[in-house]
Amino acid sequence: MIKPLVAGNWKMHGNTETASHLAAQLVAQWSDRPVAERSVEMVLFPPSVHLSLVKGAVAGSGIAVGAQNLSQHGSGAYTGEISGDMLVDQGCDYVLVGHSERRDLFGESSATVAEKFKAAQSSGLIPILCVGETLRQRQQEQTVAVVTAQIKAVIDCVGMHNVCRAVVAYEPVWAIGTGETASPEQAQQVHRAIRNQLGEVGLSTRLLYGGSVKASNAAELFGQPDINGGLVGGASLEAIEFFNIVKRAE
Ligand code: PEP
Repeated sequence: MIKPLVAGNWKMHGNTETASHLAAQLVAQWSDRPVAERSVEMVLFPPSVHLSLVKGAVAGSGIAVGAQNLSQHGSGAYTGEISGDMLVDQGCDYVLVGHSERRDLFGESSATVAEKFKAAQSSGLIPILCVGETLRQRQQEQTVAVVTAQIKAVIDCVGMHNVCRAVVAYEPVWAIGTGETASPEQAQQVHRAIRNQLGEVGLSTRLLYGGSVKASNAAELFGQPDINGGLVGGASLEAIEFFNIVKRAE
């Protein structure tokens, strides 16, 4: 049985006050049961400058914290970058790699994503590898080819075993922040292709769906056989909505 995971990607939103308030609201809702009895894992991805604040706010609640990005380099003269070790030092357990906004807006190639994935694991972080096709690629029926090629680039760099001990998030680019969601059948089809690609070692790998997940569509998506939770952007900024999404994964 795979324990589902629901992750909230706060992107570049908020300030000290809103970050502490949101974290406190989630802790208040989440803390009604002992950590050991929870059947879903919740992970928050605040902006890097708020990591330590959020980590402090969720301490003891069982909610984990992750970063939205990391450098592929261990340390050195890389102005503005943040290494995996620094994120661990701030209390992170997870890190996103290959989010479509990093690939598209910041020019991260699949090779760079693979290096970041490797750097994350070297620091002891669990990478959430984000993959997904554009609308055009879907229309040209390239979805599975695109997604499996993005994953293969990482397998080629770190090996199948290491990819399988991470988390993979399928996020169709056309569904991120658009209000458009893949239908449960569309999402399951791609998740099944990913599961097949990962083979025997990947039978217990957590595969998340991301792309305009809301409390109203989460149950159907999370109910698919190869979907083990979600990566949530916009809806994770609202405590009640996000908490209701988390509950749908139980
Ligand atoms: C995301 O940023 O990973 C995401 C899925 O965003 P949204 O839920 O807003 O589509």
